[in-house]
Amino acid sequence: MSEPIEYGVKRLGVALPVSRELLIEHGVMEPTDAERAELERLKAQVRRREQAHARAQLNARRRLAAIADPLARAVLDLHAENERGECTGDDMEGYEAEYPAWPCRTVKAVAAHYGIPL
Ligand SMILES: [Zn+2]
Repeated sequence: MSEPIEYGVKRLGVALPVSRELLIEHGVMEPTDAERAELERLKAQVRRREQAHARAQLNARRRLAAIADPLARAVLDLHAENERGECTGDDMEGYEAEYPAWPCRTVKAVAAHYGIPL
C-alpha cells in the first residue's frame, strides 16, 4: 500500500493572535449588542469630526479666497489646488517628482500669517 498524497495547506506550528475587533470588522464574528452600540457610537463620533473638519476647511478656504493683498493674492493664485487635490504652484524636478498636496507649505505660511487655521 502506498502513502496517501497530501493536498492542501500545511499546518503551521504557530498560532497568530487576532483581536476580536479585527474578526468582527471582517465579518468572521458577530458583535454583541453592546459592541454593536459601541461601534455605532464610534462611527457617529468619526462622522461628527469629519463634518467639523470639513466645515473648518471650507471656512479656511473662504478666508483665503477673501485675501486681497496683491502679493498674498498672487502667491495664493499661483499655489492653487488642482482637481487631484495637489498644489500647482511648486516647481518640480526629477523623473518621479510628485506634486505636494494642497495646501502646500507656502499656502500654510500665508494662512498662518493671516491667522487662518489649516
Ligand atoms: Zn504650493
